[in-house]
Amino acid sequence: MDLLKNHVGGQWIAGHGDGIALRDAVLGNELARVSSAGIDLAAAYRYARETGGPALRALTHAQRARLLADVAAVLQQHRDKYYDISLQNSGTVKNDSAVDIDGGLYTLNYFAKAGAALGQHNARAEGDAVSLAKDKAFQSQHVMVPTRGLALLINAFNFPSWGFLEKAAPALLAGVPLVVKPATATAWLTHEMVKDIADAKVLPDGALSIVCGSSDGLLDPLAPFDVVSFTGSAATASVLRRHAAFADRSVRLNAETDSLNSAILGPDAAPGTEAFDALVREVVREMTVKSGQKCTAIRRILVPQAWYDETAQAIAAKLAKTTVGNPRDESVRMGSLVGRPQYDTVQAGLRELGGVCDTLFDGSGVPLVDADPAVAACVAPHLFGTRDADANDVVHELEVFGPVATLMPYRDAAHARDLARRGHGSLVTSLYSADTAYLAATALDLADSHGRVHVITPDVAKVQTGHGNVMPQSLHGGPGRAGGGEELGGLRALGLYQRRAAIQASPDVVAALFPAKAADAPSPSAERN
Ligand code: NAP
Repeated sequence: MDLLKNHVGGQWIAGHGDGIALRDAVLGNELARVSSAGIDLAAAYRYARETGGPALRALTHAQRARLLADVAAVLQQHRDKYYDISLQNSGTVKNDSAVDIDGGLYTLNYFAKAGAALGQHNARAEGDAVSLAKDKAFQSQHVMVPTRGLALLINAFNFPSWGFLEKAAPALLAGVPLVVKPATATAWLTHEMVKDIADAKVLPDGALSIVCGSSDGLLDPLAPFDVVSFTGSAATASVLRRHAAFADRSVRLNAETDSLNSAILGPDAAPGTEAFDALVREVVREMTVKSGQKCTAIRRILVPQAWYDETAQAIAAKLAKTTVGNPRDESVRMGSLVGRPQYDTVQAGLRELGGVCDTLFDGSGVPLVDADPAVAACVAPHLFGTRDADANDVVHELEVFGPVATLMPYRDAAHARDLARRGHGSLVTSLYSADTAYLAATALDLADSHGRVHVITPDVAKVQTGHGNVMPQSLHGGPGRAGGGEELGGLRALGLYQRRAAIQASPDVVAALFPAKAADAPSPSAERN
């Protein structure tokens, strides 16, 4: 089997030893191996900082935006190959591969367009200059400039494409070189994308490196101006935060971790209303897309207590129609988890939730389509319920990263908000109602503990972007348990990779910071062609 090489110091280098095997999620056969053993990470990081950094910083935002468009064009050419890799290594049906692959391309293209509008400067003004003295004779202008370090992107296994590109796009646009560390289980897709980008030579030397395999020593050579953008479990984030890179060297860390997201059915949304149907549809979609392996998936469903039973029946009826198995079979709607280790973790989670909840739906009695249950990482959807959600800590704390959610009743609107907050900070909550005043008040009230509040009224049912879909225009991240980080949110995303400074000077000097430039400079790739 192929040992996937690491791209560091401008070269492709194989790690030592046999490496770690990547497997087909359904068939179990080995697909490739990865090893980072023996890679000189300190030298790799120096190369990124000293070769990639200056090259990117020399470009204007518009030129970097052009690079993103060039990268998107390269990846688009190989899209079919990425779908094939995702099918094998992630066990996803086509629609689920699209969330990762096309979602990544969409995000890249979004930043290519938004970045083009930033114009011909390599730094940005933040807000207007403010006066520090009488008659505005001495002013302060805040500016955003690329950090002189590197961006280390540490990604989770569930989004090998989107997770890479949603971080890479703002970092490159900000003018910062990247080192990508994909999660081992699904590193193949990220590796292939980096290889295609490197082969096409669309980025400056040193702008993009990849390390695949063990994370041992990954943080040790980080230096003060570096940035780590981490996505993964709260447990790993907790280990990272204790590392000397952050504690002693002030490396910036952004953490996106797991989250017990909720969906709340409004007090007016009785069974039979459009809002009720919208909640049922969205819950089923969130439970089954990517087999529930989305950090934003709905884990807790909060409904008025009078409609607990009807909601359970409506969700169960739809889940019963989900065919689970080998994504190579056209009749399959939900593929597998990413691999057997994840399967074992989810089974343990099911046992734990099952021990403290009622089981309202369990699809595991239905045979898998074209998959061996002893080998494939397929798990059927499970809906649990707890009638006393106040007393049940587990349902608010345990993230079972699969097609799993728990239904819980609430007494009144205030109780629903209290329960939503029991997630200790979440990426997203969604609200379903036709009562505008209730929705606006609830959205603002929950905004302190959620990165995003997704509000569904009947008039947006067809155009809404989905509870779990992360749009580059909107903020992604959440306080507390969700990691405390922020990503995306339009051009705000560049802030993580740029340093803010105040320039205090005369109005003439402030005006000279960002002089108007007339003609568009050619993109570096156009110059090379
Ligand atoms: P994980 O086990 O925490 O791993 C995440 C990444 O961290 C992997 O690349 C992993 O490498 C690396 N890593 C592990 N230990 C490390 C260390 N000591 N130093 C540096 N890097 C280290 O998470 P996962 O199992 O891949 O992903 C699933 C979790 O991610 C779920 O809990 C999910 O909710 C969360 N998630 C959150 C978001 C979000 O945006 N909030 C998005 C997607 C997923 P190896 O793979 O080589 O161990």
